[in-house]
Amino acid sequence: MDVMSLFTKNAGKSPEDAKFFWSGGPIEVAPRAWFASVFSGVTAFETDEGVVLVDSGLARLGPMLAGMIRMRTRAPIHTAIFTQGHVDHAFGLRAFLADGQPTPRIVAHRAMPDRFARYARTAGHNVAINARQFGGTVRASTESGNADDYHTFGPPSIPPNVLYDERVDLTVGGERFEVHHCRGETDDHSWVFAPERGVLCPGDLFIWAVPNAGNPQKVQRYPWEWAAGLRAMAAKKPRTICPGHGGPVVDDAARIEEMLLETADFLDDIVAQVIEAMNDGSPPHVDIVHRVALPVSDRPWLQNVYDDAEFIIRNVVRYYGGWWSGRPSELKPPPRDALAHELARLAGGAAALCRRAEELLARGEPRLAGSLADLALEASPSDPDVQARVAAIYDARAEDEEGLMSRNLFRSAAAYAREGRPFR
Ligand SMILES: [Zn+2]
Repeated sequence: MDVMSLFTKNAGKSPEDAKFFWSGGPIEVAPRAWFASVFSGVTAFETDEGVVLVDSGLARLGPMLAGMIRMRTRAPIHTAIFTQGHVDHAFGLRAFLADGQPTPRIVAHRAMPDRFARYARTAGHNVAINARQFGGTVRASTESGNADDYHTFGPPSIPPNVLYDERVDLTVGGERFEVHHCRGETDDHSWVFAPERGVLCPGDLFIWAVPNAGNPQKVQRYPWEWAAGLRAMAAKKPRTICPGHGGPVVDDAARIEEMLLETADFLDDIVAQVIEAMNDGSPPHVDIVHRVALPVSDRPWLQNVYDDAEFIIRNVVRYYGGWWSGRPSELKPPPRDALAHELARLAGGAAALCRRAEELLARGEPRLAGSLADLALEASPSDPDVQARVAAIYDARAEDEEGLMSRNLFRSAAAYAREGRPFR
């Protein structure tokens, strides 16, 4: 199942039931303010001078989101604020503008243009990692056109025209809107607070899931600054929250405070444990992963629905450490296929590695099963029997995963196995 269909499936359910996967709206979140979400959320604040719009959705879904907001207000867009340069937040604005309307003020953090330049420079890489994040291969996603939104790299057609550094306060229709920078999921992330209506728009700094602070394929994320940002948001005492993904919470300051502060504690706990492990002899990265006791919570906003808390460990190690895993053989390693051939020879062939991987999987050892399956495929990538057996192991691992990211990356691993691991 692709990501978008999960959101469509949950359209219309109450925001509390569907959480991260909720799609719907428009919901009145404060006087003259409405929230709608299809995959990602937008918030529109009507003022006497026009609308302040926070985020704009995917280019493809902008018309649907704009249609929902326009059921409640026809006022022109006075100011748009993009909470980040990702395709699901900064690319849907055109649909909100009336025909012939001059470009409104579009506010974003100063780092956003650099993000668009990075995407353009690494377009082929981004095609590949997005195909994997959605559970497929480059070949499959190119043929299906399934991930069109994620194959567009470079700036949006209407880019930001006002950049700020740490914080900017905007006054529209006599009302103040605070825009704060916070490095978190991205280095160009902003959160918005409308003090008079008590509405917080945290962007993807809150998404009804374990923070997307570990994403295995993406550039550096900043869980410690993220936690500080969540505490700064809580200090504003918002009455209503309109998150980057999932449904809003309206007029429940106590619950919102719990959501923000518990998420901050969750991130700080992981960061502190990783730094302690690094300071205690800086063991190989895998050892740090297994040493950290991940915080556990039954709160709906702290589940591995999308990203995975384990990946946040890796992200902290990467920031404070180097690229070397710490295993001596991986400082100057042999090509993987050479190593795989040696181990397959010792084991009695790639089929023997597959057989043992299947036994380990059946015994409840999916991580070990995966390691042997990788070696089997690397030793015999064009053997149809090995391809099918390795694919089956990764399909099974995908089924076991709670988080969308892990599930899709394992699904992608199965797809690559069936294609003989071509990576192009
Ligand atoms: Zn997002």
